[in-house]
Amino acid sequence: MADTSVNPEQAYKSQKASKPHTQKLESAERFQHIKFLDCDKPVSRIIFECWHCFQGIICEYTGEPVIGEYKGRPSIIQIPVQCPNCEKTAIKLNTGEVLSKTAIPSPWEQ
Ligand SMILES: [Zn+2]
Repeated sequence: MADTSVNPEQAYKSQKASKPHTQKLESAERFQHIKFLDCDKPVSRIIFECWHCFQGIICEYTGEPVIGEYKGRPSIIQIPVQCPNCEKTAIKLNTGEVLSKTAIPSPWEQ
């Protein structure tokens, strides 16, 4: 039975896309709690949960994203933010510089 939630354009794209690309897309769309604060200020803040252990983290960051090179193509450099709890990469931010990160109780925890 056809999935009626897929619109024709998406169906066309998924047919054209190679399998590795599709898999990458799916992992990128995994749900992660993120809340942006102070977006209009020189130093912005973001609250999010660690990708791996769901530790709540508040992070201060500043500056414009840097364009670098990824696999020979121009690409925004993503700054990895290490989780204070599990020490894995909690999130990657498109920004210039990460100033601080602090573990907090997750606002989304029930
Ligand atoms: Zn973690």
